[in-house]
Amino acid sequence: MVLFSDAVETACGSATAASGPFYCPGDKKVYMDLRFFEELKTRFGAKGGDFAIAYVIAHEVGHHIQTITGTSGKMRQMQQGMSQTEANKLSVCLELQADFYAGVWAHYNKQYLEEGDIDEALSAAHAVGDDAIQSKMQGHVQPDTFTHGTSEQRKYWFKLGFSTGDVSQGDTFAKYGYSLR
Ligand SMILES: [Zn+2]
Repeated sequence: MVLFSDAVETACGSATAASGPFYCPGDKKVYMDLRFFEELKTRFGAKGGDFAIAYVIAHEVGHHIQTITGTSGKMRQMQQGMSQTEANKLSVCLELQADFYAGVWAHYNKQYLEEGDIDEALSAAHAVGDDAIQSKMQGHVQPDTFTHGTSEQRKYWFKLGFSTGDVSQGDTFAKYGYSLR
């Protein structure tokens, strides 16, 4: 994991704090500008707290798992030749699965959780839902352009991972009518 402020060079190109936390498959690193978490509270109304940060890191590590298991690669292949709207739907599946993996991680770390931690994660997941962000930024929502899922979906998949701890229940693609080959 690389913590940065302002700007950073990665195998996926250069990034600024405005890009938010992300995972770069090219160098298999998670990049985080910690000021993002201030924004999450001040601009997007999340509760904040240490477990909000833990959720975001776990989500990004979820993308690392998807890279290792080949899920990300298969998804990108399927996206070739798709309309943008369809490709976005697959991207939503990938993002929701990363939320699910974050929940599974939390499940196996229950012994470290404090009162209110799961609420912090859910509040962050709510704040970064596409519908929440779009209605804040542009005053209306365009579901065709969603790439990460709605607030409800993001909370749903985190909670499912947390309650089951069962990786096999995280096939978000199948759930929304796709099959990755
Ligand atoms: Zn993501």
